[in-house]
Amino acid sequence: MTAQVIDVIIVGAGMSGLTLANLLARQGRSLAIVDRCLPAEFDPSGPSHARVTAVSPGSKTIFEYTGVWSGIKEKRVMEFKKMVVWDEASTASIKFFAEDMSQPCLGYIVENSIIQSTLYEALQKISGIQWCVPGSVENVSCHDHEIEVTLTDNQVLRAKLLVGADGSRSAIRHLAGISYTETPYHQLGIVAKVHTELPHECTAWQRFLKTGPLALLPAGGEGAHHECSIVWSADSEYASQLMRMDDRNFEQEVTRASGQQLGKVTLKSKRASFSLASGQAQALVKPRVALIGDAAHTIHPLAGQGANLGLTDVAVLADTLAGSKRDLGSYRLLRVYERARKGEVHVMQHAMSAFAAVFSTSSLPAIVARSAALSLADHSLPLKRFFMKQAMGLSSDRPVFAR
Ligand SMILES: Cc1cc2nc3c(=O)[nH]c(=O)nc-3n(C[C@H](O)[C@H](O)[C@H](O)COP(=O)(O)OP(=O)(O)OC[C@H]3O[C@@H](n4cnc5c(N)ncnc54)[C@H](O)[C@@H]3O)c2cc1C
Repeated sequence: MTAQVIDVIIVGAGMSGLTLANLLARQGRSLAIVDRCLPAEFDPSGPSHARVTAVSPGSKTIFEYTGVWSGIKEKRVMEFKKMVVWDEASTASIKFFAEDMSQPCLGYIVENSIIQSTLYEALQKISGIQWCVPGSVENVSCHDHEIEVTLTDNQVLRAKLLVGADGSRSAIRHLAGISYTETPYHQLGIVAKVHTELPHECTAWQRFLKTGPLALLPAGGEGAHHECSIVWSADSEYASQLMRMDDRNFEQEVTRASGQQLGKVTLKSKRASFSLASGQAQALVKPRVALIGDAAHTIHPLAGQGANLGLTDVAVLADTLAGSKRDLGSYRLLRVYERARKGEVHVMQHAMSAFAAVFSTSSLPAIVARSAALSLADHSLPLKRFFMKQAMGLSSDRPVFAR
């Protein structure tokens, strides 16, 4: 029997794919979701996870539209109201305050697993979604009025639109013939949960070291003022050494690298590492195919913007498809999404690569220039407001679902 043509197949049940699924399900679209595995269920008595996202206020609004923010908040969220960025090679620093933005906070530190499990729970309450898990796509064939997706178990799905939300190694991007440019940073991002001797003061701390930035992000939910998640982006060789060190040596190294800002640091979880690269799909759409999130682009985590960029993709794509009388897979419609996203993604990627390069140089004139620039920026409220507006997803041209 030939499969019925549904509205959208989403491949990838990560943060981007599940958020899109929730928004589209609310628009009454028929959906199939394909992933190799399901998000793990949240265990309130279990340990917190090391991998976190700094969710911007704009992304929080998207989660509110999606109907999941209250569920995320009930589990474990830490608001940060201040951000301090400082330089190992000089005394320069820059501070950002929520009150300067007339906002209750600058953002929210949330474990990735909490976001995903809450998005998944919300979808469980919606009937009619076809879950193909565990599932993986073998082949894609695009026709005039539909796209046909064959899974590795030979199941065939048919839809008007196929969305690739399957991360930086996207199979959908590859099967759709969309080329991808990747520039490695030659760094690993090391994440771990730590206890800090001094309270984190609901502040996101980031120190730029010659070998890459170390962030201590306040985590652990209300009341846990000595728990942080570290995101340490370090040059590959040094990062490999850090990963090989025993816990005591690693703790000493984090304490030293953070300039003892929060006193002595002790590990509360295992370490995990991720290789870092800037990646960009040459196109975000093709007839009947759209890419979102890491499948479309990856950036350096130094400003905590990767997932936020992906969630903005989701908001723009959902808005583009909302109420459209046109065929959902029509190239002209999908180009509206692509045109709206390519500019911001491009600017963000270049900005992150420039920051990473400027802060990793050991040239004295460059260090003097960047210290002067940091100090100057720290004294310019309009400039800080401009940067924060972008980072917080509050720019005036933000998508409808982020307003
Ligand atoms: C160390 C580090 C720290 C970060 N910190 C932040 C931060 O603070 N703020 C921020 O905004 N961003 C941050 N990011 C970026 C952020 O984590 C990612 O941008 C985000 O998780 C991407 O989500 P996604 O859903 O697009 O992709 P993914 O999370 O990669 O999800 C892809 C999904 O697709 C599935 N999949 C993959 N291949 C297949 C296949 N062939 N078939 C079926 N399913 C498949 C996977 O199982 C997975 O569920 C950080 C990144 C790193 C590395």
